[in-house]
Amino acid sequence: MADFVQFLGTAGGRFVVARQQRSSAGTWLQLCGQRIILDPGPGTLLRCWQVQPPRDPRQLDAVICSHQHIDHCSDANVMVEAMTNGGYERRGLLFAPQEALSGDSPLCRYVQEFPEEVVALADGLQHEVGSVRFTAVRHQHTTETYGLIFVSQDVRLGFVTDTSYFPELPGRYRDCHLLVVNVVLDERNHPATARHLSLSHAEQIIREAQPGQAILTHFGTRVIERNPERVAAGMSERLGIPVTAATDGMKLRTGVL
Ligand SMILES: [Zn+2]
Repeated sequence: MADFVQFLGTAGGRFVVARQQRSSAGTWLQLCGQRIILDPGPGTLLRCWQVQPPRDPRQLDAVICSHQHIDHCSDANVMVEAMTNGGYERRGLLFAPQEALSGDSPLCRYVQEFPEEVVALADGLQHEVGSVRFTAVRHQHTTETYGLIFVSQDVRLGFVTDTSYFPELPGRYRDCHLLVVNVVLDERNHPATARHLSLSHAEQIIREAQPGQAILTHFGTRVIERNPERVAAGMSERLGIPVTAATDGMKLRTGVL
């Protein structure tokens, strides 16, 4: 079975999500025969069945939430329920920051009883889903948040999820064959206090991390206004690295990277 990544949704930020200007479903990964949903936001369950061919959430092996914000985990509960046959079959893994597994979090306590294992993400720690290994990278956001680097069949796939920019960030994602960057803001609405990346931050990360290929996703209103495809084309030209703007449903074979 070929490895692939499918962007079920590419929305970022509350306004794009509220209007469903883009879908806020998560990213489906199929690596080494393992099926993983990353950051299942609002509409993920629905979207799984709408894409062609459908992605059956009952076949999932892991649900991963980078942090507890609604647009990253509102559908995690239903995805875990599907993965565990409504809680009747103890199987699959749930990964999330400790902060999202305790206290006032959208991840229901009773649902956390269903998977075979619930694992708290930790900086630099290597986690496993079958033969897929991934490392969590601590980010700086308004709540405990991690980026992820998956290794499958010697291919390194980095996911720079929500974060503000910090100088060590690009270095943590070096040597990725594919680097996915969540870019919510452009420069016009990017105050110094913003806890999300802007387009120029994304460009700087790609320049320093030097991936084989980069994908922009998780777009806020202003980035969509700027036309993500055009923005990505400009970056590709300046950086000499192929940069693509993700679209809802876009699927990428990773074995050929
Ligand atoms: Zn967030």
